[in-house]
Amino acid sequence: MTPTFVPTAPHIRAARGSRALDPPTSSSFAEEKRLCSLLLSTAGARLPTLAAKRPWSCDTFVALPDVTADGSMLLAKNSDRPAKECQPLRYWPRRQSMATSPLRLAYVEIPDVRQSWAHLGGSPYWCWGHELGLNELGVGIGNEALFTRDLAEHVTQSRHGQPPPAGILGMELVRLGLERATTAQEAVSTITELVAAHGQWGSGVPGRPIEQGAYDNSYLVADPREAWVIETSGHRWAARAIRTGTYAISNQPTIRIEWDGASQDLIDHAIEAGWWPASENRPFDFARAYTDPGTPLQVSHVRLQRSRHLLADATRHGKITFDQATRVLRDHYEDTFLGGPYFTAALPDLMTLCMHDSPAGFTWGNTASSAIMLMPDTPDQLPHLWWAAATPCTSVYLPIFPAAASVPNALALPAATVVAERPEDVATATYDAQSYWWQFQKLLDHVKGDERAWMFNDRQPQVRQAFDPLQQRWALELPDIQREAVKFIRAGNAQGRKLLTQFTERCARQALEICTNLIAEFDRKMPLA
Ligand SMILES: [Zn+2]
Repeated sequence: MTPTFVPTAPHIRAARGSRALDPPTSSSFAEEKRLCSLLLSTAGARLPTLAAKRPWSCDTFVALPDVTADGSMLLAKNSDRPAKECQPLRYWPRRQSMATSPLRLAYVEIPDVRQSWAHLGGSPYWCWGHELGLNELGVGIGNEALFTRDLAEHVTQSRHGQPPPAGILGMELVRLGLERATTAQEAVSTITELVAAHGQWGSGVPGRPIEQGAYDNSYLVADPREAWVIETSGHRWAARAIRTGTYAISNQPTIRIEWDGASQDLIDHAIEAGWWPASENRPFDFARAYTDPGTPLQVSHVRLQRSRHLLADATRHGKITFDQATRVLRDHYEDTFLGGPYFTAALPDLMTLCMHDSPAGFTWGNTASSAIMLMPDTPDQLPHLWWAAATPCTSVYLPIFPAAASVPNALALPAATVVAERPEDVATATYDAQSYWWQFQKLLDHVKGDERAWMFNDRQPQVRQAFDPLQQRWALELPDIQREAVKFIRAGNAQGRKLLTQFTERCARQALEICTNLIAEFDRKMPLA
C-alpha cells in the first residue's frame, strides 16, 4: 500500500485586486441604502437562475493522528445544501428494537438492529439521515455526492419509464453507519453491505423528483485509529484505508488503481458496460472507469485540489491544528489570484469550500452546516465535535460531546420527523425564531445585505472579530472541563455528563447573544428588504 497522496502544489499568492462590487466604506448608512436600492432597481429584484441546479456540494477531509497537533484523528466536513434548507444538530440516544422489526427509511424498509449507538447528527430538517455525525464510540462519518456512470444510466432508464428499484439515501447510510458501528472498519462493512443490497436510487433533495435529486455517494469514515474512504456507484463500491497524512474528497471519485476492498464484479461490470476496454493493459482505474463524463469535473476538482493544497501547506509548516481545519472550511480562495477584482465570496462566480448561494444559479446553495470532529485515542479525552450552523465564514464552531447525551434545545430545532418521509413530499422549511440554525441563517442574510452580497466584504470581517475570540476561549477552556468530566464519568457520577452539557449550553448562549447583537447592529444600519 502506498502512502496517502497529498499533492504539494506551489503556494499561489497574488496581491488582492480592488473589488468593483465592494461597498464604499466612507458612505453614510442612508447612502448605502440608497445605493442598494439603485442596484436592485437596475438589476431587477431577482436575477435569472439556471434551470436545474445539481447537488454539486460538500467537501470532507480527514487528518490522521500522525499529522494533527494533539494526535487526535480529525474528520471535518462542510455540508452544502439548497439555500435555507434548515440543518439542525441533534443527539440521538441508543435505540432498542426487535432485530426482526423493519426500519422504515425514505424509500425502503430494512431489518433494524437490536440496539443502535447514541450519536450526534446534523440533518436536513426533513431527513431521517445525516449529512455528518459522530457516535458515542468515536466513529465519525461525512458523505459527498458522486456522479457516476451507473447514476447517469439510472436517470436515463427512469426517464424512459424504467427506473431502477429505490434504495437507501446517502444521508441515511451515514446515520446507519453511526448507529451500527463500533469502529471505522465496522462502519465500512455496514455501509458497503447496505449499498450492495439496496443501491442508492432516491432523491436527496426536497421537492425534487428522483431523476433530478439522486446521487451516488462517497464517504470518509474515521475512528480514533483508522480512517477509510468509500466510493460507490449504484450497488457497487470500492474502499481504501487511509494510513497516514491527510485525505480530502469532494464530488468526484478519488480511488484509482489501489483499494483494500471492493465489489467482486467492480471491474467486470465496467468492462461489460463498455466503460473500460477489455483489452486495456493498464491497471483498472476505478475513478476513470466509473466517473460520469457527462458531469463537468471542474465543479468538484477545483474545490478538491484547494482543500488538498491547504492541508498540504499546513502539514509542510507543522502539524494540523483545529484552527487550521477551520481555515480550510472557511476558505473562498483568499490570497490567490481568484481574490479579485469581481469576486465576492457571497456572490460566487465559482464554487468555494465555504459555499454561498449564487443569484446566477451557478452554485447549488449554501454551506448549511460545518463540523470538525476530534477523536482522541486516549482514555483521558473524549470524542467531540465542533459544529457551526450555516456558512462557517459567518458562524462560530460550538464544542459538543456525544458523552453529554444531549444538545441545547435550540440546536435541535425544528423537531425531527418521527418517520422517514419521501423528500419529494416534504414541506418547504419555514423560519423558526427559536431555532439556533435559523438565527445564523438570518445573520448570513444580514452579512450579505442583499441578494448581490453588497455588504459582505465589509461585514464578514466584523463577524470574525466578534466570534473568533469566543471560539479561542472555548478551545482553551475545553481541556480542563474535559478532564473534570472524565474523572466523574469514570467514577460513574452523572456530574461528568452535566459538566459537558453545561459547557455546550453556555457556549451556545454566548454565540446566540453575539449573533443577535450583530443582526441588530446590521439591521440598524440597513434593514433587509
Ligand atoms: Zn463563506
